[in-house]
Amino acid sequence: MSKMKKDFSQYFQAPDLREAKKRGKEEVQVLQFESLPDEMKNIGVGHKYLIQTFGCQMNVHDSETMAGIFEMMGYTPTIDERDADIILLNTCAIRENAEDKVFGELGRLKHLKLEKPNLILGVCGCMSQEESVVNRILKSYQNVDLVFGTHNIHRLPHLVHNALMSKEMVIEVWSKEGDVVENMPKVRADGLRAWVNIMYGCDKFCTYCIVPYTRGKERSRRPEDVLNEIRELARKGYQEVTLLGQNVNAYGKDLEDLNYLFGDLMDDVRKIGIPRIRFTTSHPRDFDDHLVEVLGKGGNLVEHIHLPVQSGSSEVLKLMARKYDRERYLDLVRKIKETVPNVVLTTDIIVGFPGETDEQFEDTISLVKEVEFDSAFTFIYSPREGTPAAKMQDDIPMEVKKARLQRLNETLNEIGRRKNEELRGHVVEVLVEGESKKNADVLSGRTRTNKLVNFAGPKSLIGKMVMVRIEDPKTWSLTGVLLEDPKQQKAPVA
Ligand code: SF4
Repeated sequence: MSKMKKDFSQYFQAPDLREAKKRGKEEVQVLQFESLPDEMKNIGVGHKYLIQTFGCQMNVHDSETMAGIFEMMGYTPTIDERDADIILLNTCAIRENAEDKVFGELGRLKHLKLEKPNLILGVCGCMSQEESVVNRILKSYQNVDLVFGTHNIHRLPHLVHNALMSKEMVIEVWSKEGDVVENMPKVRADGLRAWVNIMYGCDKFCTYCIVPYTRGKERSRRPEDVLNEIRELARKGYQEVTLLGQNVNAYGKDLEDLNYLFGDLMDDVRKIGIPRIRFTTSHPRDFDDHLVEVLGKGGNLVEHIHLPVQSGSSEVLKLMARKYDRERYLDLVRKIKETVPNVVLTTDIIVGFPGETDEQFEDTISLVKEVEFDSAFTFIYSPREGTPAAKMQDDIPMEVKKARLQRLNETLNEIGRRKNEELRGHVVEVLVEGESKKNADVLSGRTRTNKLVNFAGPKSLIGKMVMVRIEDPKTWSLTGVLLEDPKQQKAPVA
């Protein structure tokens, strides 16, 4: 399918730092997902879709929504790209290598388009909100049929319809502060664990991060919509719900007619009959005392908190515009540990931020030791075009960045191993997710604190909560023995 040249500038606006920072001028609208127009019903009958998802949990959940829309249109899923009639790459812009992977995929999929000219190849997600990416696709990836942004997901039926009818590349990327769209259909990955968006966007503008430009301003769903969705999941028998947002702790701040924040939401979610409630991701700045107090009530609010710190140096945190310093972070950790018994803390850390000195890196190592994180996602800093940090001099040599990353990971592994060792002989509650990836005779699941547990047991236990005694703790997982006699089951510790 050849594409004609045309002016696409009317279809998308590039993310612009100054424009994107002007928050609050556009009113957030709560839209309802409309039923499909007649010409889009059954458009996919007899055809298959495949969505490749890159990046964070937000993207995974967006893919569940897009799958729901495809299935409303009559499409069925496939995991074989040669079988697919439409392939979407749901992309991530957070790191350069994530972008490289997507362009690699687009290049690789060229041959499929040659073999199957009617295949629709689409790019969506955060990358498509970047002007440079859209220009690169227009220039060098003429095999792409469809590009749409993070604010345009609810428009998918129209976009697919247009792509099928048109010989031109269809582009629809709205650069806007963002709306909230309710009643979107979803195909959830399993009947066990579900993700529920509580808010969208981010207003924090950490200097290294592209998200505030690609996902719009912070906007919360109405509490009744969130609570009703979770109640419905409880009725369907889901065992675990993760509340999702780029910065869940800012939940409710934009709901001007209500005095209802994240702690209030968690307190209400606590009363719903879902055995485990998680949330991600947290920003320490908005993590208030009321939330700590509510988490201390336990019950279905699990004792695992992912609390990204990014650096242990107050100077680096200032350059990152994280809006807290080392002392404030440690103070929050102290409060959480005092209030939430047996809490497990995990984090995100960037090494080699522009100007990071050896001393500042040592501050990160000492903070990691002081907090004793059970695990962490660790990254080497890479600049994202359009962010303030990209204008700072990226002056740390790559070999220094790599050495810091290695030292940090060794420190984290040693702490993680020691903390897992403390569980030896203890009984933990495990939600059984399925067969172990490495051995089909072994089951695997997660503790309340999100630790991976492997044990031998019948497949009939998949989807159930069981008690397992830990016998062989390792750095990344725990191996244990299933307790079948309830009398053996003393109170779980994790
Ligand atoms: S809080 Fe900072 S790092 Fe997280 S999404 Fe917002 S800007 Fe990015």
